[in-house]
Amino acid sequence: MAIKAPITVAVGDGIGPEIMTQTLRILEAAGAAIEPEFIEVGEQMYLAGQASGIGPEAWDSLRRTGVLLKAPITTPLGGGYKSLNVTLRKTLGLYANVRPTRSLYPAVFTRHPNLDIVIVRENEEDLYAGIEHQQTPEVVQCLKLVSRPGCEKIVRYAFEYARRHGRRHVTCMTKDNIMKLTDGLFHRVFMEIGQEYPDLGQDHQIIDIGTARLADTPERYDVIVTLNLYGDIISDVVAQLAGSVGLAGSSNIGDHGALFEAIHGSAPDIAGRGIANPSGLLQAAVLMLVHLGQTEVAARVHNAWLCALEDGLHTADIYRAETSIAKVSTEGFADAVIERLGHEPKHLAPFKAGETTAAAAPARPVATYERPVVEQQLVGSDIFVCWSGFKPNELGEMLSKLAGPDLKLKIITNRGVKVYPDGHAETFCTDHWRCRFVAANATVATATQVGYTPVQFGQVLDLQHRLTEAGIMVIKTENLYLMDGQRAFSLGQGE
Ligand code: NAD
Repeated sequence: MAIKAPITVAVGDGIGPEIMTQTLRILEAAGAAIEPEFIEVGEQMYLAGQASGIGPEAWDSLRRTGVLLKAPITTPLGGGYKSLNVTLRKTLGLYANVRPTRSLYPAVFTRHPNLDIVIVRENEEDLYAGIEHQQTPEVVQCLKLVSRPGCEKIVRYAFEYARRHGRRHVTCMTKDNIMKLTDGLFHRVFMEIGQEYPDLGQDHQIIDIGTARLADTPERYDVIVTLNLYGDIISDVVAQLAGSVGLAGSSNIGDHGALFEAIHGSAPDIAGRGIANPSGLLQAAVLMLVHLGQTEVAARVHNAWLCALEDGLHTADIYRAETSIAKVSTEGFADAVIERLGHEPKHLAPFKAGETTAAAAPARPVATYERPVVEQQLVGSDIFVCWSGFKPNELGEMLSKLAGPDLKLKIITNRGVKVYPDGHAETFCTDHWRCRFVAANATVATATQVGYTPVQFGQVLDLQHRLTEAGIMVIKTENLYLMDGQRAFSLGQGE
Protein backbone atom coordinates (compact mmCIF):
# COMPACT_ATOMS: atom_id res chain seq x y z
CA MET A 1 0.00 0.00 0.00
CA ALA A 2 1.52 3.32 -1.08
CA ILE A 3 2.12 5.97 1.59
CA LYS A 4 -0.81 8.33 1.51
CA ALA A 5 -0.01 11.93 0.56
CA PRO A 6 -1.58 14.44 2.95
CA ILE A 7 -3.67 17.00 1.05
CA THR A 8 -5.77 19.90 2.27
CA VAL A 9 -9.37 19.89 1.02
CA ALA A 10 -11.83 22.80 1.01
CA VAL A 11 -15.36 21.78 0.05
CA GLY A 12 -16.36 25.36 -0.83
CA ASP A 13 -19.77 26.98 -1.19
CA GLY A 14 -22.73 26.72 -3.55
CA ILE A 15 -22.25 23.60 -5.68
CA GLY A 16 -18.83 23.08 -4.01
CA PRO A 17 -19.85 20.40 -1.46
CA GLU A 18 -21.82 18.46 -4.11
CA ILE A 19 -18.98 18.29 -6.64
CA MET A 20 -16.30 17.73 -3.97
CA THR A 21 -18.15 14.76 -2.45
CA GLN A 22 -18.40 13.08 -5.85
CA THR A 23 -14.82 13.92 -6.82
CA LEU A 24 -13.46 12.39 -3.60
CA ARG A 25 -15.65 9.30 -4.15
CA ILE A 26 -14.10 8.80 -7.58
CA LEU A 27 -10.56 9.33 -6.27
CA GLU A 28 -11.11 6.78 -3.52
CA ALA A 29 -12.59 4.23 -5.91
CA ALA A 30 -9.61 4.75 -8.25
CA GLY A 31 -7.16 4.03 -5.43
CA ALA A 32 -5.65 7.50 -5.00
CA ALA A 33 -3.15 7.42 -2.12
CA ILE A 34 -4.29 10.62 -0.44
CA GLU A 35 -5.07 11.61 3.14
CA PRO A 36 -7.46 14.59 3.04
CA GLU A 37 -7.42 17.20 5.82
CA PHE A 38 -10.60 19.26 5.61
CA ILE A 39 -10.49 23.00 6.23
CA GLU A 40 -13.26 25.52 6.44
CA VAL A 41 -12.88 28.48 4.09
CA GLY A 42 -15.26 30.70 2.21
CA GLU A 43 -18.64 32.18 2.92
CA GLN A 44 -19.02 30.94 6.52
CA MET A 45 -15.56 32.22 7.44
CA TYR A 46 -16.28 35.59 5.82
CA LEU A 47 -19.51 35.89 7.74
CA ALA A 48 -17.67 34.86 10.94
CA GLY A 49 -15.47 37.93 10.53
CA GLN A 50 -12.42 36.64 8.60
CA ALA A 51 -11.96 39.36 5.95
CA SER A 52 -10.14 36.96 3.59
CA GLY A 53 -12.45 33.99 4.20
CA ILE A 54 -9.75 31.86 5.82
CA GLY A 55 -8.73 31.30 9.45
CA PRO A 56 -5.43 30.37 11.16
CA GLU A 57 -6.08 26.58 11.35
CA ALA A 58 -6.52 26.46 7.59
CA TRP A 59 -3.14 28.14 7.05
CA ASP A 60 -1.53 25.55 9.39
CA SER A 61 -2.95 22.71 7.29
CA LEU A 62 -1.81 24.33 4.05
CA ARG A 63 1.72 24.78 5.37
CA ARG A 64 1.78 21.12 6.44
CA THR A 65 0.52 19.62 3.19
CA GLY A 66 1.59 22.15 0.54
CA VAL A 67 -1.32 20.92 -1.65
CA LEU A 68 -4.88 22.24 -1.70
CA LEU A 69 -7.81 20.74 -3.59
CA LYS A 70 -10.44 23.42 -3.47
CA ALA A 71 -14.04 23.67 -4.62
CA PRO A 72 -15.30 27.12 -5.63
CA ILE A 73 -16.33 29.53 -2.93
CA THR A 74 -18.73 32.45 -2.81
CA THR A 75 -17.36 35.91 -2.06
CA PRO A 76 -20.17 37.80 -0.28
CA LEU A 77 -21.16 41.00 -2.04
CA GLY A 78 -20.37 44.33 -0.44
CA GLY A 79 -17.24 46.02 0.84
CA GLY A 80 -14.81 44.65 3.41
CA TYR A 81 -14.37 41.17 1.90
CA LYS A 82 -11.20 40.17 0.09
CA SER A 83 -11.15 37.41 -2.50
CA LEU A 84 -9.99 34.17 -0.85
CA ASN A 85 -8.64 32.92 -4.16
CA VAL A 86 -6.47 35.96 -4.66
CA THR A 87 -5.29 35.78 -1.02
CA LEU A 88 -4.34 32.10 -1.34
CA ARG A 89 -2.54 32.58 -4.64
CA LYS A 90 -0.55 35.57 -3.47
CA THR A 91 0.21 34.43 0.08
CA LEU A 92 1.45 31.03 -1.10
CA GLY A 93 3.28 32.55 -4.09
CA LEU A 94 1.29 30.48 -6.61
CA TYR A 95 2.47 32.50 -9.55
CA ALA A 96 1.40 30.24 -12.43
CA ASN A 97 -2.23 29.47 -13.15
CA VAL A 98 -2.24 26.72 -15.76
CA ARG A 99 -5.54 26.08 -17.50
CA PRO A 100 -5.53 23.29 -20.06
CA THR A 101 -8.62 22.83 -22.23
CA ARG A 102 -9.09 20.21 -24.91
CA SER A 103 -12.26 19.67 -26.87
CA LEU A 104 -13.96 16.31 -26.26
CA TYR A 105 -15.81 16.16 -29.57
CA PRO A 106 -17.92 14.20 -30.49
CA ALA A 107 -18.57 13.15 -26.87
CA VAL A 108 -19.23 16.76 -25.90
CA PHE A 109 -20.68 19.04 -28.55
CA THR A 110 -18.49 21.94 -29.64
CA ARG A 111 -18.11 23.87 -32.86
CA HIS A 112 -14.35 23.47 -32.39
CA PRO A 113 -13.45 19.76 -32.41
CA ASN A 114 -9.70 20.43 -32.65
CA LEU A 115 -9.39 22.87 -29.77
CA ASP A 116 -6.40 21.98 -27.56
CA ILE A 117 -5.11 25.01 -25.68
CA VAL A 118 -3.15 25.60 -22.49
CA ILE A 119 -3.49 29.06 -20.97
CA VAL A 120 -0.68 30.05 -18.65
CA ARG A 121 -1.99 32.99 -16.67
CA GLU A 122 0.11 35.22 -14.42
CA ASN A 123 -1.46 34.83 -11.01
CA GLU A 124 -0.09 37.37 -8.53
CA GLU A 125 0.05 40.80 -10.15
CA ASP A 126 -1.75 43.12 -12.56
CA LEU A 127 -5.06 44.63 -11.52
CA TYR A 128 -5.53 41.69 -9.14
CA ALA A 129 -3.01 43.22 -6.72
CA GLY A 130 -6.25 44.50 -5.20
CA ILE A 131 -4.97 48.02 -4.47
CA GLU A 132 -7.93 50.33 -4.94
CA HIS A 133 -8.66 53.79 -3.59
CA GLN A 134 -11.32 56.39 -3.85
CA GLN A 135 -9.27 59.53 -4.28
CA THR A 136 -11.83 62.23 -4.81
CA PRO A 137 -15.63 62.40 -4.54
CA GLU A 138 -15.77 61.53 -8.25
CA VAL A 139 -12.83 59.24 -8.96
CA VAL A 140 -11.70 55.77 -7.87
CA GLN A 141 -8.58 53.98 -9.00
CA CYS A 142 -7.20 50.44 -9.19
CA LEU A 143 -3.44 50.05 -9.40
CA LYS A 144 -2.07 47.80 -12.11
CA LEU A 145 1.25 46.43 -10.84
CA VAL A 146 3.53 44.45 -13.13
CA SER A 147 7.04 43.48 -12.05
CA ARG A 148 10.03 42.22 -14.01
CA PRO A 149 10.52 39.17 -11.75
CA GLY A 150 6.79 38.43 -12.03
CA CYS A 151 6.95 38.57 -15.84
CA GLU A 152 10.15 36.53 -16.00
CA LYS A 153 8.75 33.77 -13.79
CA ILE A 154 5.53 33.32 -15.72
CA VAL A 155 7.00 33.71 -19.21
CA ARG A 156 9.79 31.21 -18.48
CA TYR A 157 7.22 28.90 -16.96
CA ALA A 158 5.12 29.01 -20.14
CA PHE A 159 8.10 28.23 -22.39
CA GLU A 160 9.27 25.41 -20.10
CA TYR A 161 5.76 24.02 -19.99
CA ALA A 162 5.50 24.10 -23.77
CA ARG A 163 8.85 22.39 -24.25
CA ARG A 164 8.30 19.66 -21.67
CA HIS A 165 4.80 18.89 -22.87
CA GLY A 166 5.66 18.61 -26.54
CA ARG A 167 3.87 21.82 -27.43
CA ARG A 168 5.04 23.74 -30.47
CA HIS A 169 3.97 27.35 -30.18
CA VAL A 170 3.63 30.00 -27.46
CA THR A 171 1.49 33.10 -28.03
CA CYS A 172 1.85 36.11 -25.74
CA MET A 173 -1.19 38.39 -25.40
CA THR A 174 -1.01 41.93 -23.99
CA LYS A 175 -2.43 45.39 -24.58
CA ASP A 176 0.93 47.11 -24.92
CA ASN A 177 -0.24 49.44 -27.66
CA ILE A 178 -2.00 51.30 -24.83
CA MET A 179 -0.21 50.26 -21.61
CA LYS A 180 3.31 50.70 -22.84
CA LEU A 181 5.07 50.38 -19.50
CA THR A 182 3.11 47.59 -17.76
CA ASP A 183 1.98 45.39 -20.64
CA GLY A 184 5.04 46.59 -22.55
CA LEU A 185 7.28 45.03 -19.89
CA PHE A 186 5.44 41.69 -20.18
CA HIS A 187 5.83 41.71 -23.97
CA ARG A 188 9.49 42.73 -23.77
CA VAL A 189 10.29 39.95 -21.29
CA PHE A 190 8.48 37.49 -23.60
CA MET A 191 10.74 38.59 -26.50
CA GLU A 192 13.87 38.36 -24.33
CA ILE A 193 13.20 34.95 -22.81
CA GLY A 194 11.78 33.61 -26.08
CA GLN A 195 15.28 33.78 -27.55
CA GLU A 196 16.28 30.94 -25.22
CA TYR A 197 13.61 28.71 -26.83
CA PRO A 198 14.34 28.78 -30.59
CA ASP A 199 12.73 25.34 -30.95
CA LEU A 200 9.30 26.84 -30.16
CA GLY A 201 7.19 29.01 -32.45
CA GLN A 202 6.28 32.30 -30.81
CA ASP A 203 4.20 35.36 -31.54
CA HIS A 204 2.56 38.29 -29.80
CA GLN A 205 -1.03 39.42 -30.27
CA ILE A 206 -2.89 42.40 -28.88
CA ILE A 207 -5.42 40.94 -26.45
CA ASP A 208 -8.53 42.32 -28.14
CA ILE A 209 -7.89 40.90 -31.60
CA GLY A 210 -6.29 37.86 -29.97
CA THR A 211 -9.49 37.12 -28.05
CA ALA A 212 -11.58 37.62 -31.18
CA ARG A 213 -9.41 35.16 -33.14
CA LEU A 214 -9.46 32.75 -30.21
CA ALA A 215 -13.25 32.78 -30.16
CA ASP A 216 -13.36 32.32 -33.94
CA THR A 217 -10.62 29.76 -34.63
CA PRO A 218 -9.28 28.40 -31.34
CA GLU A 219 -7.59 25.50 -33.13
CA ARG A 220 -4.91 28.00 -34.28
CA TYR A 221 -3.62 28.31 -30.71
CA ASP A 222 -1.38 26.08 -28.64
CA VAL A 223 0.05 27.65 -25.42
CA ILE A 224 -0.97 31.20 -24.49
CA VAL A 225 0.82 33.23 -21.83
CA THR A 226 -0.77 36.41 -20.59
CA LEU A 227 -1.37 38.78 -17.70
CA ASN A 228 -3.74 38.00 -14.84
CA LEU A 229 -6.96 39.74 -15.93
CA TYR A 230 -6.74 38.77 -19.61
CA GLY A 231 -5.93 35.18 -18.63
CA ASP A 232 -8.94 35.03 -16.36
CA ILE A 233 -11.24 36.16 -19.15
CA ILE A 234 -9.86 34.15 -22.05
CA SER A 235 -9.73 30.89 -20.06
CA ASP A 236 -13.49 31.10 -19.48
CA VAL A 237 -13.95 31.87 -23.18
CA VAL A 238 -11.89 28.83 -24.17
CA ALA A 239 -13.60 26.50 -21.65
CA GLN A 240 -17.00 27.58 -22.94
CA LEU A 241 -15.87 27.06 -26.55
CA ALA A 242 -14.91 23.51 -25.63
CA GLY A 243 -18.41 22.83 -24.30
CA SER A 244 -18.87 24.26 -20.79
CA VAL A 245 -17.05 26.19 -18.07
CA GLY A 246 -18.02 23.18 -15.95
CA LEU A 247 -15.44 20.98 -17.74
CA ALA A 248 -12.14 22.70 -17.06
CA GLY A 249 -9.74 22.30 -14.14
CA SER A 250 -6.68 24.34 -13.34
CA SER A 251 -3.53 24.24 -11.28
CA ASN A 252 -1.97 27.14 -9.41
CA ILE A 253 1.70 26.39 -9.01
CA GLY A 254 4.35 28.11 -6.91
CA ASP A 255 7.69 27.28 -5.36
CA HIS A 256 6.13 26.45 -1.98
CA GLY A 257 2.81 24.85 -2.78
CA ALA A 258 0.09 24.09 -5.28
CA LEU A 259 -3.66 24.66 -5.45
CA PHE A 260 -6.00 22.73 -7.72
CA GLU A 261 -9.50 23.90 -8.56
CA ALA A 262 -12.17 24.06 -11.24
CA ILE A 263 -12.16 27.27 -13.23
CA HIS A 264 -15.85 27.95 -12.61
CA GLY A 265 -17.46 29.59 -9.58
CA SER A 266 -19.85 28.33 -6.93
CA ALA A 267 -22.87 28.48 -9.31
CA PRO A 268 -25.40 29.56 -6.66
CA ASP A 269 -28.13 29.41 -9.31
CA ILE A 270 -27.99 25.59 -9.38
CA ALA A 271 -26.63 24.87 -5.87
CA GLY A 272 -28.35 22.11 -3.87
CA ARG A 273 -30.10 20.61 -6.92
CA GLY A 274 -27.59 17.84 -7.55
CA ILE A 275 -27.22 18.74 -11.24
CA ALA A 276 -23.79 20.42 -11.33
CA ASN A 277 -21.07 18.97 -13.51
CA PRO A 278 -18.22 17.71 -11.29
CA SER A 279 -15.81 17.48 -14.26
CA GLY A 280 -13.92 20.73 -13.63
CA LEU A 281 -13.04 19.73 -10.09
CA LEU A 282 -12.30 16.18 -11.20
CA GLN A 283 -9.90 17.52 -13.84
CA ALA A 284 -8.26 19.62 -11.12
CA ALA A 285 -7.92 16.44 -9.04
CA VAL A 286 -6.26 14.69 -12.01
CA LEU A 287 -3.74 17.53 -12.25
CA MET A 288 -3.17 17.17 -8.49
CA LEU A 289 -2.54 13.41 -8.77
CA VAL A 290 0.06 13.99 -11.46
CA HIS A 291 1.63 16.68 -9.26
CA LEU A 292 1.77 14.12 -6.43
CA GLY A 293 3.46 11.62 -8.76
CA GLN A 294 0.40 9.34 -8.87
CA THR A 295 0.19 9.35 -12.65
CA GLU A 296 -1.29 5.87 -13.00
CA VAL A 297 -4.26 6.75 -10.81
CA ALA A 298 -4.53 10.05 -12.68
CA ALA A 299 -4.70 8.18 -15.98
CA ARG A 300 -7.29 5.74 -14.61
CA VAL A 301 -9.55 8.58 -13.44
CA HIS A 302 -9.08 10.64 -16.57
CA ASN A 303 -9.79 7.73 -18.93
CA ALA A 304 -12.89 6.61 -16.98
CA TRP A 305 -14.11 10.22 -17.17
CA LEU A 306 -13.59 10.24 -20.95
CA CYS A 307 -15.47 6.91 -21.21
CA ALA A 308 -18.47 8.29 -19.28
CA LEU A 309 -18.59 11.32 -21.56
CA GLU A 310 -18.13 9.17 -24.66
CA ASP A 311 -21.01 6.93 -23.54
CA GLY A 312 -23.22 10.00 -23.65
CA LEU A 313 -23.85 10.30 -19.89
CA HIS A 314 -24.02 14.04 -19.53
CA THR A 315 -24.92 16.53 -16.82
CA ALA A 316 -27.42 19.22 -17.78
CA ASP A 317 -24.83 21.83 -18.79
CA ILE A 318 -23.51 19.69 -21.67
CA TYR A 319 -26.62 17.59 -22.40
CA ARG A 320 -27.95 17.73 -25.98
CA ALA A 321 -30.89 15.58 -26.98
CA GLU A 322 -29.30 14.78 -30.39
CA THR A 323 -25.98 13.47 -29.08
CA SER A 324 -26.36 12.58 -25.38
CA ILE A 325 -27.72 9.22 -24.20
CA ALA A 326 -28.94 10.30 -20.75
CA LYS A 327 -29.09 13.40 -18.61
CA VAL A 328 -27.45 12.46 -15.31
CA SER A 329 -27.12 14.08 -11.89
CA THR A 330 -23.82 14.98 -10.27
CA GLU A 331 -23.90 11.69 -8.37
CA GLY A 332 -25.09 9.77 -11.42
CA PHE A 333 -22.14 11.08 -13.41
CA ALA A 334 -19.72 10.09 -10.63
CA ASP A 335 -21.29 6.59 -10.61
CA ALA A 336 -20.72 6.40 -14.36
CA VAL A 337 -17.06 7.34 -13.96
CA ILE A 338 -16.53 4.83 -11.15
CA GLU A 339 -18.15 2.04 -13.22
CA ARG A 340 -15.68 2.75 -16.03
CA LEU A 341 -12.48 2.80 -13.97
CA GLY A 342 -9.94 0.60 -15.75
CA HIS A 343 -11.47 1.26 -19.19
CA GLU A 344 -9.98 3.31 -22.01
CA PRO A 345 -11.99 5.57 -24.30
CA LYS A 346 -12.79 4.30 -27.81
CA HIS A 347 -12.60 7.56 -29.76
CA LEU A 348 -11.07 10.24 -27.53
CA ALA A 349 -7.32 10.16 -26.99
CA PRO A 350 -6.60 8.35 -23.73
CA PHE A 351 -4.25 9.72 -21.10
CA LYS A 352 -1.25 7.39 -20.70
CA ALA A 353 0.65 7.54 -17.42
CA GLY A 354 4.07 9.02 -18.09
CA GLU A 355 3.02 10.66 -21.35
CA THR A 356 2.94 14.40 -21.69
CA THR A 357 -0.61 15.52 -22.30
CA ALA A 358 -2.64 18.59 -21.59
CA ALA A 359 -3.82 16.89 -18.43
CA ALA A 360 -0.30 16.31 -17.13
CA ALA A 361 1.02 18.52 -14.38
CA PRO A 362 3.15 21.45 -15.46
CA ALA A 363 6.89 21.48 -15.21
CA ARG A 364 8.47 23.46 -12.40
CA PRO A 365 11.24 25.60 -13.79
CA VAL A 366 14.06 26.75 -11.56
CA ALA A 367 13.43 30.38 -10.73
CA THR A 368 16.65 32.33 -10.95
CA TYR A 369 16.43 36.04 -10.63
CA GLU A 370 19.05 38.69 -10.01
CA ARG A 371 17.91 42.14 -9.00
CA PRO A 372 19.07 44.62 -11.67
CA VAL A 373 21.36 47.53 -10.81
CA VAL A 374 19.80 50.63 -12.33
CA GLU A 375 20.64 54.33 -11.98
CA GLN A 376 17.38 55.97 -10.91
CA GLN A 377 17.22 59.75 -11.31
CA LEU A 378 14.35 61.88 -10.02
CA VAL A 379 13.32 64.44 -12.67
CA GLY A 380 9.89 65.58 -11.51
CA SER A 381 6.62 64.63 -9.90
CA ASP A 382 3.04 64.06 -10.93
CA ILE A 383 1.03 65.65 -8.13
CA PHE A 384 -2.61 64.61 -8.18
CA VAL A 385 -4.99 67.12 -6.66
CA CYS A 386 -8.68 67.16 -5.86
CA TRP A 387 -10.16 70.41 -7.16
CA SER A 388 -13.84 71.04 -7.66
CA GLY A 389 -13.47 73.76 -10.30
CA PHE A 390 -14.19 73.21 -13.97
CA LYS A 391 -11.79 75.60 -15.71
CA PRO A 392 -8.32 74.04 -16.13
CA ASN A 393 -6.73 77.40 -16.91
CA GLU A 394 -7.69 78.69 -13.46
CA LEU A 395 -6.01 75.72 -11.79
CA GLY A 396 -3.01 75.98 -14.12
CA GLU A 397 -2.42 79.65 -13.33
CA MET A 398 -2.77 79.02 -9.59
CA LEU A 399 -0.32 76.11 -9.63
CA SER A 400 2.17 77.86 -11.91
CA LYS A 401 2.48 80.67 -9.35
CA LEU A 402 3.15 78.14 -6.57
CA ALA A 403 5.63 76.02 -8.55
CA GLY A 404 8.81 78.14 -8.51
CA PRO A 405 11.61 78.80 -8.13
CA ASP A 406 13.01 75.23 -8.50
CA LEU A 407 10.09 73.60 -10.31
CA LYS A 408 7.64 74.51 -13.04
CA LEU A 409 4.20 73.22 -13.97
CA LYS A 410 4.54 71.39 -17.27
CA ILE A 411 1.10 69.99 -17.98
CA ILE A 412 -2.24 69.17 -16.36
CA THR A 413 -4.28 66.19 -17.49
CA ASN A 414 -7.75 65.06 -16.48
CA ARG A 415 -8.37 61.30 -16.87
CA GLY A 416 -5.22 61.26 -19.00
CA VAL A 417 -6.29 64.02 -21.41
CA LYS A 418 -4.27 67.23 -21.57
CA VAL A 419 -6.33 70.16 -20.37
CA TYR A 420 -3.58 72.70 -19.62
CA PRO A 421 -1.92 74.46 -21.28
CA ASP A 422 -3.89 74.70 -24.53
CA GLY A 423 -6.68 72.28 -23.63
CA HIS A 424 -9.89 71.92 -25.60
CA ALA A 425 -13.00 73.60 -24.22
CA GLU A 426 -15.07 70.46 -25.04
CA THR A 427 -13.12 68.14 -22.70
CA PHE A 428 -15.18 67.08 -19.70
CA CYS A 429 -13.22 67.42 -16.46
CA THR A 430 -13.70 65.51 -13.21
CA ASP A 431 -12.43 66.67 -9.80
CA HIS A 432 -9.23 64.58 -10.23
CA TRP A 433 -6.31 66.48 -11.77
CA ARG A 434 -2.82 65.22 -12.55
CA CYS A 435 -0.35 68.09 -12.41
CA ARG A 436 3.13 67.38 -13.74
CA PHE A 437 6.00 69.38 -12.26
CA VAL A 438 9.54 69.20 -13.61
CA ALA A 439 12.75 71.15 -12.98
CA ALA A 440 12.41 74.85 -13.75
CA ASN A 441 15.31 74.57 -16.20
CA ALA A 442 14.09 71.37 -17.93
CA THR A 443 14.23 71.59 -21.70
CA VAL A 444 11.96 70.23 -24.42
CA ALA A 445 12.65 66.61 -25.34
CA THR A 446 14.29 65.96 -28.70
CA ALA A 447 15.13 62.80 -30.59
CA THR A 448 18.48 62.60 -28.79
CA GLN A 449 17.74 64.25 -25.44
CA VAL A 450 15.17 63.17 -22.87
CA GLY A 451 14.63 66.84 -21.99
CA TYR A 452 14.50 66.38 -18.21
CA THR A 453 16.95 67.57 -15.59
CA PRO A 454 17.33 66.29 -12.03
CA VAL A 455 15.22 67.64 -9.17
CA GLN A 456 15.63 67.10 -5.45
CA PHE A 457 13.03 65.16 -3.48
CA GLY A 458 13.00 68.00 -0.93
CA GLN A 459 11.92 70.41 -3.67
CA VAL A 460 8.91 68.19 -4.40
CA LEU A 461 8.03 68.02 -0.70
CA ASP A 462 8.35 71.80 -0.36
CA LEU A 463 6.01 72.24 -3.30
CA GLN A 464 3.44 69.95 -1.68
CA HIS A 465 3.63 72.10 1.49
CA ARG A 466 3.04 75.23 -0.56
CA LEU A 467 0.07 73.67 -2.36
CA THR A 468 -1.45 72.48 0.92
CA GLU A 469 -1.00 75.89 2.55
CA ALA A 470 -2.72 77.47 -0.44
CA GLY A 471 -5.74 75.21 0.21
CA ILE A 472 -5.14 72.74 -2.62
CA MET A 473 -5.79 69.11 -1.66
CA VAL A 474 -2.91 66.86 -2.69
CA ILE A 475 -4.36 63.34 -2.98
CA LYS A 476 -1.32 61.45 -4.24
CA THR A 477 2.00 61.81 -5.98
CA GLU A 478 3.97 59.74 -8.46
CA ASN A 479 7.64 60.46 -8.85
CA LEU A 480 9.04 60.81 -12.35
CA TYR A 481 12.29 58.92 -12.88
CA LEU A 482 14.85 58.33 -15.55
CA MET A 483 16.09 54.73 -15.32
CA ASP A 484 19.60 54.48 -16.72
CA GLY A 485 18.92 57.75 -18.52
CA GLN A 486 15.67 56.54 -20.14
CA ARG A 487 12.28 58.09 -19.41
CA ALA A 488 10.38 55.67 -17.12
CA PHE A 489 6.91 57.20 -17.13
CA SER A 490 4.24 57.77 -19.72
CA LEU A 491 4.03 61.14 -21.40
CA GLY A 492 0.98 63.27 -20.78
CA GLN A 493 -0.91 63.64 -24.08
CA GLY A 494 0.59 66.48 -26.06
CA GLU A 495 3.86 66.64 -24.09
P1 NAD B 1 -20.10 30.64 -11.96
O1 NAD B 1 -18.95 30.02 -12.68
O2 NAD B 1 -20.36 30.16 -10.60
O3 NAD B 1 -21.43 30.37 -12.83
C1 NAD B 1 -21.58 30.83 -14.17
C2 NAD B 1 -22.62 29.96 -14.90
O4 NAD B 1 -22.05 28.67 -15.18
C3 NAD B 1 -23.88 29.70 -14.07
O5 NAD B 1 -24.98 29.67 -14.93
C4 NAD B 1 -23.64 28.33 -13.47
O6 NAD B 1 -24.82 27.61 -13.20
C5 NAD B 1 -22.82 27.64 -14.56
N1 NAD B 1 -21.89 26.67 -13.98
C6 NAD B 1 -20.74 26.94 -13.32
N2 NAD B 1 -20.16 25.81 -12.91
C7 NAD B 1 -20.96 24.80 -13.33
C8 NAD B 1 -20.89 23.40 -13.19
N3 NAD B 1 -19.88 22.80 -12.54
N4 NAD B 1 -21.89 22.66 -13.71
C9 NAD B 1 -22.91 23.24 -14.37
N5 NAD B 1 -23.02 24.57 -14.54
C10 NAD B 1 -22.06 25.34 -14.01
O7 NAD B 1 -19.90 32.20 -11.99
P2 NAD B 1 -20.65 33.37 -11.20
O8 NAD B 1 -22.12 33.09 -11.17
O9 NAD B 1 -20.15 34.61 -11.83
O10 NAD B 1 -20.08 33.34 -9.72
C11 NAD B 1 -20.76 32.77 -8.62
C12 NAD B 1 -19.89 32.88 -7.37
O11 NAD B 1 -18.70 32.14 -7.54
C13 NAD B 1 -19.46 34.32 -7.01
O12 NAD B 1 -19.56 34.50 -5.62
C14 NAD B 1 -17.99 34.36 -7.42
O13 NAD B 1 -17.25 35.27 -6.63
C15 NAD B 1 -17.58 32.94 -7.14
N6 NAD B 1 -16.42 32.48 -7.93
C16 NAD B 1 -15.55 31.66 -7.28
C17 NAD B 1 -14.47 31.13 -7.97
C18 NAD B 1 -13.52 30.22 -7.25
O14 NAD B 1 -13.76 29.92 -6.09
N7 NAD B 1 -12.46 29.77 -7.89
C19 NAD B 1 -14.28 31.44 -9.33
C20 NAD B 1 -15.21 32.28 -9.98
C21 NAD B 1 -16.29 32.77 -9.26
